Amino acid sequence: MAAASEWKAAVSYDPLTGTGHILRGGDLVRFKKDYPVFSLGSGRPLRSAAVRDSGGRLQMPLDTERAIARWFAERDAERASRFSVAAIIIDPGHGGKDSGAIGEFGSGKDRLRVLEKDVSLAIGKDLYARLQAAWPDKRILITRSGDTYPSLDARVDMANDVQLGLNEAIIYVSVHANASFNKSASGFEVWYLNPEYRRTVVDDKKAEGVDKSVLPILNAMLEEEYTTESVFLAKSILGGLKAKIGDASVDRGLRAEEWFVVRNAKMPSVLVEVGFVTNEAEARKLSDPGHLRKLGDGIYNGIIDFVEYFEHRKGL
Ligand SMILES: [Zn+2]
Repeated sequence: MAAASEWKAAVSYDPLTGTGHILRGGDLVRFKKDYPVFSLGSGRPLRSAAVRDSGGRLQMPLDTERAIARWFAERDAERASRFSVAAIIIDPGHGGKDSGAIGEFGSGKDRLRVLEKDVSLAIGKDLYARLQAAWPDKRILITRSGDTYPSLDARVDMANDVQLGLNEAIIYVSVHANASFNKSASGFEVWYLNPEYRRTVVDDKKAEGVDKSVLPILNAMLEEEYTTESVFLAKSILGGLKAKIGDASVDRGLRAEEWFVVRNAKMPSVLVEVGFVTNEAEARKLSDPGHLRKLGDGIYNGIIDFVEYFEHRKGL
């Protein structure tokens, strides 16, 4: 692996799992010992002779070294044209027949009824308008703009149907409100995909010419990439919310789960829970347009931070 130092790349290898990566700038090559397929960048497969582990010394066949060097050269050329987040999908949770969580309190003039679908729509539409104004060049999409119920499949399909160029990425932000039997639970949190969860992210088109048996391993590699981006996106949004909301609500932090909407989106994706409709004090805030604007503002700032980070670092 003298090649790595020639490339000024860092090699990391875990002898326990036999997996490792070569990182050069933002360009990542993942490999598995004795496995003749490499994952380049966001999961482009490279079929070439495998890396061998001969008593703790990693050896890469010359042909493979050349192929990887060629890819690094390609990446350098691509870098001339800047990476960008070309599309952002905002997904207001629930809608129509599906109210989502419901909070009901008080009586008479103090009576309050808050539906999650209304909270998510108000924030989603606000976000959508702001993002469109900020980035007329990007494709900003919203899964619903009224009190309708697109199925979860339809939402994810909408995201996955967006055509992207070589250096373009798409991000997916789902907005929800929370509920708990514990009436004192309150606060906002941001979820990202649980790295433990296996999903199919390499589609057949992308994997043309690749042995079907290698798809699971490519998927696992690529999935890690999406997760990394999702964690950054989730952290940025949480930071944006914290800055805007301050003490008005509790920061419950980052969470990882297997949400359907997040799981099936082949892109960095997060789910924001903006507060609990089952907590009376918070439900009152969630029915206050001023508070909803602040939440939208916080998520918006988080997205801006992420996009800036992403577009100056590397593409998908
Ligand atoms: Zn929900």
